[in-house]
Amino acid sequence: MRHSLACVSACALALAATTGVAQAQDGFTPQHAAQQRQFEASFQEGVSADDMRSLNRGFSRRPHLVGTPNQRRVVDSALAKLKSYGLDASLQSYDIYISRPESIQVSMTKPYLRRASNKEPKLPGMEDYEDVVPAYNAYSPPGDVTAPVVYANYGLPEDYAKLDQLGVDVKGKIVLVRYGQSFRGVKVHVAEQHGAKGVIIYSDPKDDGFVRGPVFPDGPWRPADSMQRGSIQYLWDYPGDPLTPDKPSIPGTKRLDPSQATDLAKIPSTPISYGDAQPMLQALGGPEAPDNFQGGLPFKYHVGPGPTEAHLNLDIAYDTEPVNDVIATIRGTKHPDQKVIVGGHSDAWTYGANDNVSGFTAVMEIGRSLGRLLRKGWHPDRTIVLAGWDGEEYGLLGSTEYGEQFAKDLTKNAVSYLNMDGVAGRRFGAGGVPSLDKLITDASKTVPDPSGKSIFDAWRGNDAAPSLGRLGSGSDYTVFLDHLGVPGMEVGYSSGGGEYHSAYDNTEQVERFLDPGYLGHQAASRMSGVLALRLANADALPLRYSDYAKQVDAYVTELQQIQQSNPNAAQVDLTPLHEAAGAWGTASTALEAKAAALTAGDSPPSGQLNKINKALLEEERLLTTPQGIPDRPWFRHQVYAPGINTGYAAQFLPGLRDALDAGDAATVTTYRDLLVQSLRNAANTASAAT
Ligand SMILES: [Zn+2]
Repeated sequence: MRHSLACVSACALALAATTGVAQAQDGFTPQHAAQQRQFEASFQEGVSADDMRSLNRGFSRRPHLVGTPNQRRVVDSALAKLKSYGLDASLQSYDIYISRPESIQVSMTKPYLRRASNKEPKLPGMEDYEDVVPAYNAYSPPGDVTAPVVYANYGLPEDYAKLDQLGVDVKGKIVLVRYGQSFRGVKVHVAEQHGAKGVIIYSDPKDDGFVRGPVFPDGPWRPADSMQRGSIQYLWDYPGDPLTPDKPSIPGTKRLDPSQATDLAKIPSTPISYGDAQPMLQALGGPEAPDNFQGGLPFKYHVGPGPTEAHLNLDIAYDTEPVNDVIATIRGTKHPDQKVIVGGHSDAWTYGANDNVSGFTAVMEIGRSLGRLLRKGWHPDRTIVLAGWDGEEYGLLGSTEYGEQFAKDLTKNAVSYLNMDGVAGRRFGAGGVPSLDKLITDASKTVPDPSGKSIFDAWRGNDAAPSLGRLGSGSDYTVFLDHLGVPGMEVGYSSGGGEYHSAYDNTEQVERFLDPGYLGHQAASRMSGVLALRLANADALPLRYSDYAKQVDAYVTELQQIQQSNPNAAQVDLTPLHEAAGAWGTASTALEAKAAALTAGDSPPSGQLNKINKALLEEERLLTTPQGIPDRPWFRHQVYAPGINTGYAAQFLPGLRDALDAGDAATVTTYRDLLVQSLRNAANTASAAT
């Protein structure tokens, strides 16, 4: 292990050096590019897998749910470490409305009585096991309901349509759904819309259990007695403190009455294991479930209703708890106001060795390695902010309140936000807004993957280029991108496993199965650090809006295809969007050419560069609209939002998409015109700086 670690570290330098010489660097003058390559190489060298092992083990020693003394210990220890790295670090605290499980009871009451368990069995090596929170859904209302059960597959709208065809109504029933395909809050919301009385969510073995492979502790997959905890906050409506949408939860902010909070569910819900779902499913009568409803348990699934009956008795209390973000700042010397932010959440459902001690450790390690460079006299040109967000698991609490508190400054000065949520693994993944595609792709060529190839080569596999994801919601980039219009991206590593939000997301899982040697941790930390360094130091910001314009144009084409294939879709003329996106693309290409010409020499006029950078910094903001997208005023970005029926996955052109499907021509016209105006403003901004 030690030998291979050393090799990877040596390869890093070799790679950085060779590819560096061969390549011009977007946005850097030749002289500055040479310097930058040195900084990147010594930064990468300073990122140590051994150090990350000890950081990860420390932070994931005990369960550390938001608001608990254990989480306070994690926060305080991170703060002390960042200071010991020589960074200027402090806490940013909020008081947030949070749920706590008092007693969680789930029973099958018919055809026979059987109590479900709400916690995994303790395995050797699990410290402070009594602090593992019972499996429950954060922000579920309390409730005591008994009803016949209906099995509704993943709980997607199309699953209810299938049930309808089978003549099965879920009104007044308890819906049993499996995890996967959509965010769990969406499952509860869709069940609520269909009149269900309560929801039980289980993890089917076909999705992350024995069907996939050996289960923990023999392998990484989910055992029969493990359950997935999680928040069911309606975060596509708004995330953060349910009582302070759009405002920070600090003293003086007026709180909503909880009954006014529209991001809270009205029916009780809770998760169970497949060991406990099995007898409920097996006893179900009614029609046989369609093929795509069948899971991995060894019998034919039926949909019910009944004779299975279940009783949910959920005693869930609500109170206000402190949520503490850890923020470290490395002040830029040339443009101190401009900020590149790198963050990951520090809280976890249980031990959280993967989710998200791994990502948080990667952020911390960037701080340690940059601290080393600072001591040698190095400084970034722009300010780099490192953030450990608290309360992400309950509803992106710490990041959302931070974004709302510093909205004015971030809107003016944030260059980009980079998120890390899960870096324990062997498979690289990245995504973000299209303007960052080239930067991410370029950077991936200089960072070694655990496989020994560059990240770029491992990531693209047999394709010519890797494919990048787009951001929906479910992690801390949401407030930055969707609310404020800050270019967002996410970088991570993953491996197949079923530990998600269970008591077995622990050190053993990470070290034996997900990320032996912490090599995924190391590569992710290096990759994110390189991205941050490029954004912080570039003479001309490497944000390519010509790529963004092309992507928007392709989205418009997709909407037109929907119009053609669905006669009920709103038939509003979308060609003005093509024209506006085309003009933005042309203006952006000209701006990029100007920036490239200016940075081709070693002393570009700083006035012209500042003008270009100001335009580049502004453009993503121009894609937002102050009124927000239809019925979701908190979500202001007009190109990306989380889907109402997906939650995690991105919905593109959200102002138009739902209204188009619903045949609402008036709304489509309104949002078409708003977006056309935004695209024109962006084009004009680019032209004015060229
Ligand atoms: Zn997470």
